Amino acid sequence: MDLFEYQGKCYFARFGVPVSTGGVAETVEEAVARAEEAGYPVVVKAQVQVGGRGKAGGIQIAADAAEVRRHAEAILGMDIRGHVVGRLLVEQATDIAAEYYASFTLDRSAKLDLGLLSSEGGVDIEEVAAHRPEAIARVHVDPVDGLSEEVCREWVERAGLGGDAAPGAVQLLRALYRCYTDGDADLVEVNPLVLTTDATLLALDAKVTLDDSAAFRHPEWAELESTQVLDVREQLARERGLQYVGLDGSIGIIANGAGLAMSTLDVVHQVGGTPANFLDVGGGAKAEVMASALEVINTDPKVRCIFINIFGGITKGEEVAKGVVEALGRVKLSSPIVVRLDGTNAEQGRAILAEHESERLVSQPTMLDAARKAVELALERG
Ligand code: GDP
Ligand code: MG
Repeated sequence: MDLFEYQGKCYFARFGVPVSTGGVAETVEEAVARAEEAGYPVVVKAQVQVGGRGKAGGIQIAADAAEVRRHAEAILGMDIRGHVVGRLLVEQATDIAAEYYASFTLDRSAKLDLGLLSSEGGVDIEEVAAHRPEAIARVHVDPVDGLSEEVCREWVERAGLGGDAAPGAVQLLRALYRCYTDGDADLVEVNPLVLTTDATLLALDAKVTLDDSAAFRHPEWAELESTQVLDVREQLARERGLQYVGLDGSIGIIANGAGLAMSTLDVVHQVGGTPANFLDVGGGAKAEVMASALEVINTDPKVRCIFINIFGGITKGEEVAKGVVEALGRVKLSSPIVVRLDGTNAEQGRAILAEHESERLVSQPTMLDAARKAVELALERG
């Protein structure tokens, strides 16, 4: 789960990572109220889960209530790279002396946590990584040992943070690491981490991704969950307990198991098609699940053809086929379906599908043929 900046900063604060004083607002009047509480000048920041808000005009400094009103009016409802601004963070503006970058995430190949620290923050870190990799100091942390003060000091030194920043940086980075580990995050990123003109360090931006697998020990995350912006299909899929990821193409994909779903994306690409989604119905493929999956895909106007790719394991082929047929009776689909059914009792399953074969329901024995047919139908339907 990705947090908004204002939520990320609350999370930071819980672990002692310093952030500016401020609060969230959903209306112009609330923005003015938050500004009065924080004290002028303030910065008015669009709350969207996409980078580059500054460049898009979503971050403005205001010296008084009239300016807050003007900026809040302009930013609320603004579309920043497809994300519509529904909330603002209004906080005390900071006088910046230097902008740094800091983050923690998991390095899967090293099987260790990875900290990145750079004295070149505030800009796109991918750019720095591509052109000046030596400007990013890395540290691998054994999650069992944690980030010791000594290791952290050496890391800060290597990153070349200014003399004023160093002592505060060690403390802040250790708190950030605790936020990452004890807070069960997959990623914590601060860009920029700033040194103020009066020599204190602050996390001026916050990007936090929480580890959904740890949700069971964080009942307090439920509140964060309620503000998640899911699109309609993501919402519907979540309610039905399906794994769904929306993509940009024209072929809706239903498969059982994430591995098969991913292979299906590959095969569709291989034969010149573009997937509209990734939808994993999991182990079973009963009518109920199949109907839910078809319902989710059916709400996507980009879809021109649906490709159901099921490999029967414990679930038998005839049950899958019955599921598809029954689901077709329940959901009025706007696109034709191509089914590839294999595995346990595939023959029996295909026989059932054959009885219902039509222009709207085509069965193909192999994944490649099925993908070709799906792409062909999608192209025909433009
Ligand atoms: P992003 O563009 O979405 O990453 O948003 P950030 O929160 O990182 O802000 C972008 C830039 O706005 C920062 O790098 C700062 O230069 C500037 N900025 C943000 N808050 C303040 C502030 O309180 N004072 C000043 N002077 N600049 C700020
Ligand atoms: Mg930023």
